Amino acid sequence: MSAHRHLPFARRPHHAPVAPDALASMLESPGFGRIFTDHMVTISWSERQGWYDAQLRAREPLTLDPAAAVLHYAQEIFEGLKAYRLTSGGVALFRPEQNARRFQASATRLAMPLLPEPTFLEAIDELVQIDAHWIPPGDGSLYLRPFMFASEPFLGVRPANEYLFVVIASAVGAYFKGGSKAVRVWLSQDYTRAAPGGTGAIKCGGNYAASLVAQAEASKHGCDQVVFLDAVEHRWVEELGGMNIFFVFEDGSLLTPPLGGTILPGITRDSLITLARREGLTVREERYSFEQWRSDAKSGKLREAFACGTAAVVSAIGEVKTTDGHFTIGDGHGGPVTDRLKSKLIGIQRGEVADQDGWVRKVL
Ligand SMILES: *Cc1c(COP(=O)(O)O)cnc(C)c1O
Repeated sequence: MSAHRHLPFARRPHHAPVAPDALASMLESPGFGRIFTDHMVTISWSERQGWYDAQLRAREPLTLDPAAAVLHYAQEIFEGLKAYRLTSGGVALFRPEQNARRFQASATRLAMPLLPEPTFLEAIDELVQIDAHWIPPGDGSLYLRPFMFASEPFLGVRPANEYLFVVIASAVGAYFKGGSKAVRVWLSQDYTRAAPGGTGAIKCGGNYAASLVAQAEASKHGCDQVVFLDAVEHRWVEELGGMNIFFVFEDGSLLTPPLGGTILPGITRDSLITLARREGLTVREERYSFEQWRSDAKSGKLREAFACGTAAVVSAIGEVKTTDGHFTIGDGHGGPVTDRLKSKLIGIQRGEVADQDGWVRKVL
């Protein structure tokens, strides 16, 4: 593979960005993924030219041929990361190079071209720098959504030979309605998320498409999220639809299911393992069955459980529902280990807690 060649970014700022007073009212209660900033980045790829035509430009609808391969065979991958305002001023990203590398792993699995890590990071930096004033006041952030899809008009089944890489940004507040209260999760008994040899370890739209019916079932039962079991034995807890899972036991130890090709290697998961171990806590990456989860919750051996991911950071799991009943974890409202790890992670992201690992990357 040829060495990375710097790709020039053409900057074409929006000629009519949202005015300050209108922006202020949009940012009052942004929710999640509904409010988008003025700009986007696009970069094209073709077999002949490689990566070309990098642009920072006004966000607008894309023009797509109806035969574009992504619309038929779902050759699409994405990432999710946040830009935060530091307490001391300035704006930072959290471990963005991990997102760049995972994006490459996703591209490899779906037979797509690899976007060089420096280009991925530059695209993010460009967008954050121009739209940083969209970060809501208080504890809001800019949720960045880099993605890439097959744009070639072709209905044959093979990897496409044209792609578009795009980054958009959304001003966000809390992920779950009701802020940081414990969530209720639904155990999916009919559907699985990922099978061995499949795409569970990468971020592709197809994984989410396949999980939506289970998510709808969860909502129907009054739950916020779905817990998926492994596809082979329907026994081992894997993760939620878009978040990894941790368990906290009475002896203070933690357990999270091991990465093995069917679980998404979350950057939040990895960060929390590091932080917990540094506090002297034991963290096991081991399989945990649903029956064991239920019996440990009932006996009191299990004290806390939480879900984690970039969008919602850390969310205590208070209750688990299945077709044949439900059980609570601890008092149903989270617990001290969940709270402490969450505070520490947010503290590092905001520049309030020492960043011993070089995770925070200032962009402004
Ligand atoms: C993105 C994602 C996560 C969380 O990953 P982070 O890097 O922590 O944001 C967990 N599970 C799935 C299925 C995901 O798509």
